[in-house]
Amino acid sequence: MTATPAWPPKSLPRLFVRTPLSESAHVELDAKQANYLGNVLRLGAGSELLVFDELSGEWLARIAEAGKRRMTLSVERKTREPESIPDVWLAFAPVKRAQTDWLVEKATELGAARLVPVMTQRTIAERVRLDRLESIAIEATEQCGRTRVPQIVEPVQLRRFVEELDPSRHFYFADESGGEPMSSAFREGPAIILVGPEGGFADEERAFVRGAGANPISLGPRILRAETAALAALSAYMALVGDWR
Ligand code: SAH
Repeated sequence: MTATPAWPPKSLPRLFVRTPLSESAHVELDAKQANYLGNVLRLGAGSELLVFDELSGEWLARIAEAGKRRMTLSVERKTREPESIPDVWLAFAPVKRAQTDWLVEKATELGAARLVPVMTQRTIAERVRLDRLESIAIEATEQCGRTRVPQIVEPVQLRRFVEELDPSRHFYFADESGGEPMSSAFREGPAIILVGPEGGFADEERAFVRGAGANPISLGPRILRAETAALAALSAYMALVGDWR
């Protein structure tokens, strides 16, 4: 008989809920979450878990009632304040579906505050399904211990996106034709990192983005795939001026 290993310790399940949480609150779970806790994890009344909402941080909760399709939690005490993460947005030209899903999952883990699908001339994307991307971001948030789900906004045309940007936000774009190394380009403070599509930026887009005041950054001598470039730039930002220091 195999013994139950003592290490790693079993961590409590974490769930994102849309209901605002507070001490002693009761939270009704939706059928999907009830099914996950009851049938997948086989938890019943009395089991503990961690929950977090949009705003108030993370709480310890206990299953109060468990039915076939529904479940009620009672919230006990706060375990973590809402995270304060660097205000960095990742603007990316959506790629094929599997790669876009992967990009959203990893960018959530790395700590992006907001994800913006940007349509460029050479963007070849199947329809961007925001609800799908949002559930991927929620799962990644639950898994990695963040207390806030990154915002995922509606796809926007490159030109409009750039015109509507707040000029006080540092604007970097990953330019495969060359730019400043990230170690000297990145500054602390609200930022946006824009990465182009598989086909790269068109020359006129590059000129337009530069003209709008964006700093071109280089990701080294190799041409990276769009999703690799996005995640590499975000990682470098976190390490150089973000919350990995
Ligand atoms: N097809 C293009 C490459 C596009 S790579 C070509 O052959 O030139 C996709 C995107 O990733 C680019 O638009 C850019 O934003 C980013 N990227 C990839 N490699 C890069 C690098 N070495 N430096 C800066 N950005 C890079």
